Amino acid sequence: MLLKTNEKVQGHYDVIIIGSGLAGLTAANILGRHGRKVLLVEAHNKLGGFATWFYRSNKKYIFDVSLHGFPIGMKKTCRKYWNIDIANKIIQLKDVRFANPQFKLQTEFTRVDFTQKLIEHFGVPAETVEAFFNFVREMNFYDNNQMTNHDLFEKFFPGRTDIVRFLMEPITYANGSTLEDPAITYGIVFSNFMSQGVYTFQGGTDLMIKMMRDELLQNSVDIKMQTKIEKVVVENKAVKGVIIEGELITAKAVLSNGNLLSTIFQMVGADHFSSEFVTKAKAVRLNSSSCQVYMAIKENESIPHIGDLVFTSTAPTFNTEELLAKKVTSRTFSVYYPDTRPQEATPKYYIVSSTNSHYADWATMDEATYQTEKELLIEDTLKSLEKFIPDIRAKIDFIDCATPCTVERYTLHQKGASFGTKFEGLDISMNLQKEITGLYHAGSVGIIMSGWLGAANYGVIQSNQVESYLYQLEKAQNFMNQNAQEDQHA
Ligand SMILES: Cc1cc2nc3c(=O)[nH]c(=O)nc-3n(C[C@H](O)[C@H](O)[C@H](O)COP(=O)(O)OP(=O)(O)OC[C@H]3O[C@@H](n4cnc5c(N)ncnc54)[C@H](O)[C@@H]3O)c2cc1C
Repeated sequence: MLLKTNEKVQGHYDVIIIGSGLAGLTAANILGRHGRKVLLVEAHNKLGGFATWFYRSNKKYIFDVSLHGFPIGMKKTCRKYWNIDIANKIIQLKDVRFANPQFKLQTEFTRVDFTQKLIEHFGVPAETVEAFFNFVREMNFYDNNQMTNHDLFEKFFPGRTDIVRFLMEPITYANGSTLEDPAITYGIVFSNFMSQGVYTFQGGTDLMIKMMRDELLQNSVDIKMQTKIEKVVVENKAVKGVIIEGELITAKAVLSNGNLLSTIFQMVGADHFSSEFVTKAKAVRLNSSSCQVYMAIKENESIPHIGDLVFTSTAPTFNTEELLAKKVTSRTFSVYYPDTRPQEATPKYYIVSSTNSHYADWATMDEATYQTEKELLIEDTLKSLEKFIPDIRAKIDFIDCATPCTVERYTLHQKGASFGTKFEGLDISMNLQKEITGLYHAGSVGIIMSGWLGAANYGVIQSNQVESYLYQLEKAQNFMNQNAQEDQHA
């Protein structure tokens, strides 16, 4: 389904938003709702960025790419910045499972349930569990705390590799963070999930994006698809606009939802920034990428309930390098049962297996090796899945896999980064406008602002920045007009 937009481009805008990921979409909706004249430009033929879907087998099957789970906060964000119908479709996934050499357990993934598991299964004193939860809950982005995730776990659960795995594995899956990353990147995301568990959008990503598209059009946002912005035009340290089909479309502000580094070094150009800023931006590390294996179960077949999210691993303990290594030891199965899409005429089951991975491992292969490695990944995934559903091979009608190269091709994220940049990217992203007046960025960055909730909320934050900039501009303009009028009357 290609969602129709208005495909309208006028000569001048208050804001041009480059990219329609959840951050770009949310920012466009808020600014449009405020009555701002907004143009949203998307390189792809679909809105949504990573929040996307694709069809296979003549549209018999539809796969969601990143609908595996997000925190409850998404419901509030959708209610406030989109609409109640979108918010009401957000429902809880209640069955999260772990299966690894250290433990096997099932959880609702809430604070209450995690507390119980830590006390009863892992034998941690209740006061320690309470102290841990309170500590991470109170973590604040502005604290400038140098503690790493490793330090955090050592502080509360010294030497307990099983607990590290229990607490860390899902968050690594949710935002790519590792034991070496700042603890703040863990604390914020873990606390978000722990508030009330893991949620999904009932009806599928395509329905959510269609509902968002409708709201954007209602709020008079102009949307131009299949248009890749190559250049943001900057003059005298201020944005002037962007080039679309060879023409300059001017705007008071430009907000990029594209990859942070592509925005700085490709769309704008390093020569427009101070050398100090360029040095800091060059040091920003991209986050890791991922591989997925997509499986559709034959029509009229079913699979047993094995959980909604299943974190599996054969590695003896949680280890960052092993998580990313090409020889996969850890994979997460997201199982989509028919109630994910109750609107479908025939009930369908899908399984998506995800593994974190290094871009360089895949990008350097020749075509033949790449195809062979894809086949091997599929085979290993099936072997791993057979432990949960022994006759899975006979039930599968369609199977294929995506690699970091696929992610890069479809989303234009450098090196197929699934979760934007590492922590240091946040500071760069938040300060673009101090270097170039009217230039903003919103999107997966700094680990914290990634994932559906992080990206959408960052869109909210940055739209407020744009709004207050436009307001200041108007105030200054009104003041000048008033002075000019007074001069005329004098
Ligand atoms: C395989 C996978 C699974 C995931 N699973 C989950 C999950 O279960 N739960 C969760 O919360 N998060 C998940 N995520 C992460 C989440 O999907 C992303 O963090 C989030 O959707 C990113 O939103 P964003 O606003 O940063 O924009 P993006 O999704 O990165 O979109 C950016 C958009 O900008 C467009 N663009 C870029 N450059 C240009 C240009 N020059 N001109 C025009 N357009 C441009 C791109 O085409 C794209 O549409 C997953 C990610 C991946 C890769």
